[in-house]
Amino acid sequence: QKFVYDFTEGNKDLKDLLGGKGANLAEMTNLGLPVPPGFTITTEACKVYLESGKEPSALGDEVGAHLDALEQKMGKKLGQPDNPLLVSVRSGAKFSMPGMMDTVLNIGLSDASVAGLAQQSGNERFAWDSYRRLIQMFGKTVLDVDGELFEEALEKAKRAKGADSDLDLDAADLQQLVDGFKAIVAEQAGREFPQEPREQMDLAVRAVFDSWNTERAKLYRRQERIPHDLGTAVTVCSMVFGNLGPDSGTGVAFTRDPASGHQGVYGDYLQNAQGEDVVAGIRNTVPLADLETLDKPSYDRLMSIMGTLETHYKDLCDIEFTIERGQLWMLQTRVGKRTAAAAFRIATQLVDQGLIGEAEALQRVSGAQLAQLMFPRFDDGAADEAGARRIGWGIAASPGAAVGKAVFDSYTAVKWSRSGEKVILIRRETNPDDLNGMIAAEGILTSRGGKTSHAAVVARGMGKTCVCGAEELEVDTKRRRLTATAPDGRGTVVIEEGDLVSIDGSTGKVYVGEVPVVPSPVVEYFEGRMHAGAEEADELVQAVHRIMAYADRVRRLRVRANADNAEDALRARRFGAQGIGLCRTEHMFLGERRELVERLILADTESEREEALGALLPLQKADFIELFEAMDGLPVTVRLLDPPLHEFLPDITELSVRVALAESRKDPNENDLRLLQAVHKLHEQNPMLGLRGVRLGLVIPGLFAMQVRAIAEAAAQRLAAKGDPRPEIMIPLVGTVQELEIVRDEAATVVAEVEAATGTRLRLAIGTMIELPRAALTAGQIAEAAEFFSFGTNDLTQTVWGFSRDDVEASFFTAYLEKGIFGVSPFETIDRDGVGSLVRSAAADGRATRPDLKLGVCGEHGGDPESVHFFHQVGLDYVSCSPFRIPVARLEAGRAAA
Ligand code: PEP
Ligand code: MG
Repeated sequence: QKFVYDFTEGNKDLKDLLGGKGANLAEMTNLGLPVPPGFTITTEACKVYLESGKEPSALGDEVGAHLDALEQKMGKKLGQPDNPLLVSVRSGAKFSMPGMMDTVLNIGLSDASVAGLAQQSGNERFAWDSYRRLIQMFGKTVLDVDGELFEEALEKAKRAKGADSDLDLDAADLQQLVDGFKAIVAEQAGREFPQEPREQMDLAVRAVFDSWNTERAKLYRRQERIPHDLGTAVTVCSMVFGNLGPDSGTGVAFTRDPASGHQGVYGDYLQNAQGEDVVAGIRNTVPLADLETLDKPSYDRLMSIMGTLETHYKDLCDIEFTIERGQLWMLQTRVGKRTAAAAFRIATQLVDQGLIGEAEALQRVSGAQLAQLMFPRFDDGAADEAGARRIGWGIAASPGAAVGKAVFDSYTAVKWSRSGEKVILIRRETNPDDLNGMIAAEGILTSRGGKTSHAAVVARGMGKTCVCGAEELEVDTKRRRLTATAPDGRGTVVIEEGDLVSIDGSTGKVYVGEVPVVPSPVVEYFEGRMHAGAEEADELVQAVHRIMAYADRVRRLRVRANADNAEDALRARRFGAQGIGLCRTEHMFLGERRELVERLILADTESEREEALGALLPLQKADFIELFEAMDGLPVTVRLLDPPLHEFLPDITELSVRVALAESRKDPNENDLRLLQAVHKLHEQNPMLGLRGVRLGLVIPGLFAMQVRAIAEAAAQRLAAKGDPRPEIMIPLVGTVQELEIVRDEAATVVAEVEAATGTRLRLAIGTMIELPRAALTAGQIAEAAEFFSFGTNDLTQTVWGFSRDDVEASFFTAYLEKGIFGVSPFETIDRDGVGSLVRSAAADGRATRPDLKLGVCGEHGGDPESVHFFHQVGLDYVSCSPFRIPVARLEAGRAAA
């Protein structure tokens, strides 16, 4: 097995083995772009190390051979005293984990070779600066020394000198600092800083392997749903230097704006600096466009390379580069992260440029991104009236509108959010230790750093609102306050911990107070209040419009809505619903009508019961007429009553108290007494497994018949009004075909009666939900009596796992998620292996009995992006979800089919 690949040996498709960084460095090398020579140690080597605690035995020799070759190519040896080859050792996993893992630069420097570097570069200051950086990074990441100690020593040196920036320290200062750093290492790590270059390199490689399993890396992977067993690759790359003087520098660039998608010159540049300075947001950068005046030839070369990369990758790329004395070097590229809006825009732009087709465009966006675009935004105009004031304007780093209480550290962010507070995490800049707080916060605000700072990159990845680099804000984390000079000339504003702030990640504006929010233009578009061709429709709306059209063209799954009133139905229809997949009739029995249900439950005699049902019938019928009218021409699946009846009765404790009080006043209420009796009778230990669903229909005479009559009569009336009603009757919670047969026969009789009485042909389909394991297992039999199945994956998940759907998310799911038992709640995304496999087999068995059996799903999973792909794969006819998720389901159904 080969554990080391030269950059000339790999390519961009080897990300599993070489990590994203290694694979793309190889790709660029093979494209003939200026990449400093180097090699990559594979993820396989890392996996061996993580599993056994030891590097693979062949690794040392293989690295040695590649190092020899590298030394030959460069004409100098690693750490060679008079002319040292220096290398960087960087992590690079398959999926980008920004700032999560370790990097060590300048490996090969030592007390001996620092002089050689000074001589070769003709720059003594540079040599000592490079050496102190090595000791600092090595100390921190390889030897686990607290990084603060180095920072403090550096600050102290600057203060002693009266210097603002580390650029003001000269060679002698830095040499002194190196001594100080070495002393810190010796004291903290209990060993001297290693002088042997190969030892430096091997220890750094091992540290990168180890960094795969730091707590913050694990947390990040859980968040991003990256598997824990991939391991990281390690790239060893010959160093080029951006800190050799003003003709050198380092920067990051995007081939397009990752926020808007527009083509242009986007990025940050930092003169006379080394790699990590930019990403860390330590010094403020200049816009990339300024490079044109600083170094025109390098700028032109970079622009041409960016063009090459974009055409080659057919996508937005982000790039890290360094200029060493006027020579441009590419240190990294990858297909760049982008905001949701940019993803839609870029996908359609690339189609227009002829780089990708429609099917590929669908893969460049996701339902989750579309959902993000449907979030409301701030109403700037209303900010004043609401008493909110703008206090700053930073960089719009990750879109969205976030309102919350100011907190100034990660710990408080987590603590407050656990107790239900919405918080905005405010930091001067963030670093990987802030990850927990960033997850807990509604949004993130920083006063330093650009679009590529840690805060910006991580927030974009998480889909969190972020404003960064709001420089006029002064963040004092120690005193937990933020001071701003408000641009409205009303003087200084001080925000203390707990004060409300609003941040707009789409514009970069920062407010004190709560700014009202307005609906997103994408929702306005779906609502039909904005047309894609209209003037006010921006590029984003047009892009969404086009992508939705691609999706609708290719998708096989139909999309229906879960809706039980005309208003929701009409919205669903505007959003593109092709019918109603679940009308929960219990929602029609609430409010004033609850009393009628009470009367039904309390009925002692046949005539009392009939009277109660008779009172309910016209109300139900009116509901259905409205619904069928709203959905005219489209199927409407009406589910007969499902929940346990006690849900319609007063709470047992409250009622007991009321009865007891009345009795103590010697004024008993006859009705309350009867109610209490009924409540006791209907009380169940496990109501979810009790008298509900089809069981109600079998036990409560006349209840289902009344509902079926209301449906049939409503349909007949709509027909008479020249409408096109298409109701379907659905029986819930069936476990065996016998239950279904009885209820179905009764329903069919009622329908026939209505047909006879009204002289119409109704063609009402009768089907069932599949939401119990037994139903799924006997689907072949059940299909004998059902014209359609609708998978109730909420109850099916509950019963297959034995998890109470109402309780577990609040009780032990957090622990399960933390322990990685599942990456996401099975109530959110379908559990393919368990619940999903029952869906798959039940669908097949049902169709074996009845080839034209219609199949759908109406549990929450119907609107979940991942689950939609699964339902496409197992051959369902439609998914049904809440109206707001319909566009997401349409898009994902298209992506699944493309
Ligand atoms: C289901 O169980 O998945 C379902 C759609 O029904 P309900 O959520 O109403 O129980
Ligand atoms: Mg159910």
